[in-house]
Amino acid sequence: MLAQSSPALQAGAISNPIDQQSIMRFQHQLHGDLIQPGDATYEQARRVWNGMIDRRPRLIARCRGVGDVALAIAFANQHGLRVAVRGGGHNVAGNAVCDDGLVIDLSLMQDVQVDPVARTVRVEAGATIGMVDRATQPYGLAAPTGNVSETGIAGLTLGGGLSWLRRKVGMNIDSLLSAEVVTADGRSLTASATENADLFWAIRGGGGNFGVVTEFTFRLYPIGPEVMFVAVMYPYAQVRQVLQSWRAFTAAAPEEVSSDALIWRIPPAPLFPAHTHGEAVVGVAAMYTGPVDEGMRVLQPLRTMGAPLIDMSGPMPYLAAQSAFDPLFPAHQQRYYWKSLYLDNLDRQLIDTLLNWAEASPSPQLFIPIRHLGGAISRVAEEATAVSNRLAPYLLSIDMTWVDPADDARNVEWTQACWRDLQRFSTGGVYLNFAGMGEEGKKLAESAHGANYRRLATLKNKYDPTNFFRLNQNIKPQG
Ligand SMILES: Cc1cc2nc3c(=O)[nH]c(=O)nc-3n(C[C@H](O)[C@H](O)[C@H](O)COP(=O)(O)OP(=O)(O)OC[C@H]3O[C@@H](n4cnc5c(N)ncnc54)[C@H](O)[C@@H]3O)c2cc1C
Repeated sequence: MLAQSSPALQAGAISNPIDQQSIMRFQHQLHGDLIQPGDATYEQARRVWNGMIDRRPRLIARCRGVGDVALAIAFANQHGLRVAVRGGGHNVAGNAVCDDGLVIDLSLMQDVQVDPVARTVRVEAGATIGMVDRATQPYGLAAPTGNVSETGIAGLTLGGGLSWLRRKVGMNIDSLLSAEVVTADGRSLTASATENADLFWAIRGGGGNFGVVTEFTFRLYPIGPEVMFVAVMYPYAQVRQVLQSWRAFTAAAPEEVSSDALIWRIPPAPLFPAHTHGEAVVGVAAMYTGPVDEGMRVLQPLRTMGAPLIDMSGPMPYLAAQSAFDPLFPAHQQRYYWKSLYLDNLDRQLIDTLLNWAEASPSPQLFIPIRHLGGAISRVAEEATAVSNRLAPYLLSIDMTWVDPADDARNVEWTQACWRDLQRFSTGGVYLNFAGMGEEGKKLAESAHGANYRRLATLKNKYDPTNFFRLNQNIKPQG
């Protein structure tokens, strides 16, 4: 089995022993909790969403506020501890937890404050996207968040952020107004267009490389309370016809529509009729972010691309659509390895190659979403934020999922081989939020950031010259 532990630990780098008195002092100073091996909450606190990750940190500092984060950074600096930062703990690579080091855990920092007049929301960095949606919807407002409600807003935003609002309002970072960041030297900085603008640029897509973000402020948009949402599954026998029709639909779709095509197998979940369990399907999911009646009309072609096996589409509360996929991605119970690539088209050769791979999947739980991008995402200049590949029309993600640890190596290797083979159809980029375990190191960061990589490395020098924040999709300081 591939129990995923930190590369540094595998290489034998064990941090210095810490005297008990220092730990007690640290514990006393923290407003939050300090958790150590042997504590009643340790086993639960070290778990992350991906059941494949099994790491044992020396300490977990559950912070309450900026002061605690600065204290934890100082403690780690003083004792030479490697540091992992945990937002929602949902990242597939499991970088939110490390062997032997210190986890700066933000899960006690989940406050969400809406200003309905200014149409902004302030979010503490331990909140999930569901918490943000639930706080904003009573005002008929929404921030761009994501598709599964338990995902952390922090990691998702720092990697760019793709939601059902993406084609209308862009990536999550395009609606970020400011952030509070604690840097490696313990300073607490505001990052916005007018304060520390270079840091603001870097955190919009540069991941956790530049400091611990303790709070985000986002712009809000009028959405809901009801939206038109499409979730329709066609038998796999119709896969070519549906993918071609979906491609034609996306070519003319208005920006109010964000849609995904999905290749997968219906799981035995109560959400789906029993007779469909285990069926291979091609699905289409979409949200219309304008008036419901208009959405019903505009999205109708997605429901008639073949003879549906299941059609769960209809007007529904925005909050219901935002959590519609939740049951498919349970925490801890399954093992996940996901890898993505941007595509500049969906031609027949790509579809044939993709289907050949999908049909040979070693796991029946393979899930392949193809997200339609463009719209507002592509109107932001490549150099305006740290993410790249903004002009790509599609993002394909190979979401491999399985249960038995004995299948780890086979599933990971298969996903990597499929991803490598599909590179010939790619624009060459990878989306940081679906990046496997980051095996490609610098190459991965370069492909995610394109021409922005060089500036990021320079800013890493300025804000984190010792690479203190390195358990992430790492950008090494220049030189
Ligand atoms: C089921 C599921 C659905 C998803 N859906 C979407 C989607 O719709 N759209 C999308 O864009 N992505 C999606 N993702 C990917 C998701 O955005 C990333 O996995 C993201 O890293 C999760 O953020 P987190 O805070 O939960 O992660 P964590 O595992 O807590 O953190 C991931 C990394 O982010 C950094 N980090 C986290 N918090 C902070 C912080 N406060 N300050 C500094 N660095 C920090 C750290 O480097 C950390 O290792 C999904 C993932 C899953 C598992």
